[in-house]
Amino acid sequence: MGRYTGPVCRLCRQVGEKLFLKGARCYTPHCAIEKHRRAPGSQRPTRRRLSEFGIRQREKQKLRYTFGIMERQFARYVDMAEKQPGVTGQYLFQLLERRLDNVVFRLGFSDSRAQGRQLVLHGHMLVNGRKVDIPSFFVKAGDTVTWRPASKEKPFAKAKLAEGSKQTVPGWLSRDAAALEGKVLSLPRPEDSDIKMDARLIVEHYTR
Ligand code: SF4
Repeated sequence: MGRYTGPVCRLCRQVGEKLFLKGARCYTPHCAIEKHRRAPGSQRPTRRRLSEFGIRQREKQKLRYTFGIMERQFARYVDMAEKQPGVTGQYLFQLLERRLDNVVFRLGFSDSRAQGRQLVLHGHMLVNGRKVDIPSFFVKAGDTVTWRPASKEKPFAKAKLAEGSKQTVPGWLSRDAAALEGKVLSLPRPEDSDIKMDARLIVEHYTR
């Protein structure tokens, strides 16, 4: 599955919000959205009023950019969520959070989801003791996510070990920072997330 390889700060500027795609830099004054609030290419500081379609599309793009997912795969997740009984948005949120690249990021093993994706793709991560190199792999309750023993010796993993438990782990995960190991305690719930999304607008975008 493809991925966006262009400048990520441009994506934040496009939706007009900080999406925290660049790790530590997002928390510094160098953040592009702090410096230029206007949309890319626009010389005007103010934004034009969005149509209803534009509002729905922007909500969808925000979530898609946050998780680094291409349009076709995102539409497939919405489709999967719609086929489930219950609230579509809640299931969509669960699918996105359960991706292995997101779990690696949530556990504090990477600085961003994009970096989590790289770690998974390069075979550094084990799920229940077996190598999984598919970033879109869905974890389930009870799964254990660890670094491959040889990868734990790499400088990047050692730096993460030294950082310890700086990053807060959401309630549906637990982390043993010393062992570079995480466990999925339960399926994620929207209230566990720091991502604010209006799932109704996203579902409407695909159904209209
Ligand atoms: Fe977005 Fe982070 Fe770039 Fe700021 S630094 S514009 S939050 S990706």
